[in-house]
Amino acid sequence: MAERIVETRSRKLRILQAELADQLAAPGHGLRDPAAPERLPPKPDWIRMKMPRGEMFFDLKQRVAELGLHTVCESASCPNIGECWNRQSLTIMILGGTCTRSCQFCDVPTGKPLPPDPAEPENVAMMLGELGLRHTVVTCVDRDDLPDGGAAHWAATIRAIKARSPELVLEVLTGDFKGDTGAVDTVLGAGPDVFAHNLETVPRLSRQVRVQASYARSYAVLRHAKARGAVTKTGLMLGLGEEPEEIRQVMRELREIGVDILTLGQYLRPSPRHLAVARFAPPDEFAAHKAAALAMGFPHVESGPMVRSSYHADGQRDIVLALRGR
Ligand code: SF4
Repeated sequence: MAERIVETRSRKLRILQAELADQLAAPGHGLRDPAAPERLPPKPDWIRMKMPRGEMFFDLKQRVAELGLHTVCESASCPNIGECWNRQSLTIMILGGTCTRSCQFCDVPTGKPLPPDPAEPENVAMMLGELGLRHTVVTCVDRDDLPDGGAAHWAATIRAIKARSPELVLEVLTGDFKGDTGAVDTVLGAGPDVFAHNLETVPRLSRQVRVQASYARSYAVLRHAKARGAVTKTGLMLGLGEEPEEIRQVMRELREIGVDILTLGQYLRPSPRHLAVARFAPPDEFAAHKAAALAMGFPHVESGPMVRSSYHADGQRDIVLALRGR
């Protein structure tokens, strides 16, 4: 019996590895590109993906599926999934697996979502409780179809997580709620430790990259969360056609708002349907941006080619607790 279980799990693992190998071989990931019509910049040495493997990875994947949860790690074909999941670091995505928006960099499916699953808050809390994490990120699809943008579901999820794991430092990465600051207040009222909302790119490219979003609205959401006393965080991708000075200008504006934590990472194209990579920014450019951001006064900056807003977020636990005065 035990041998059959091991054999079944090994077979499942091989299938999963094959699926993920296909995803990682998509053009934006730079491994191969037989179908894309235009010539892509070759993948530089500093873009490294680890093939997902190992017992921990498989166990996490199975448990996520058993609880009917979604993760942005899988849905967005994140290249770090092999590394993160073997550290038990995952980013659960609530409010379903279908997004009402069509951002041109993102691999999460766009469409008409199902109503929110009332069991999801408890299932998320159970999953995180079982893992015994000390810090985690939860994100969501955009739900422009819901009157509150999903804020009440967010609040229920945060409360369920905090009830089961009171010591867990919880970062919520939300959409812009169409600028509804009342919805932001509903989320903040549930007591997350970090309120994150990503700008993704510079203002000049925003409409092309985040089709239904607006820079002014995103700034307003971050400004509102900061004014309510939240620890705030945002992230941008490099490699979409922005100029370094445009990144610096955004940094200056974010500091004026008082945003605490900044992440900068390389955009990787999930498939030929998505925006092309304009260029691969070298590691020393990320280092220079980080130095400039720290000099401007950001308390914490993660900057590097493989950085994502949730990448190594567990390493930010101490700075978040310090910012919260705990
Ligand atoms: S970087 Fe974030 S989204 Fe990517 S695998 Fe790690 S936790 Fe998941």
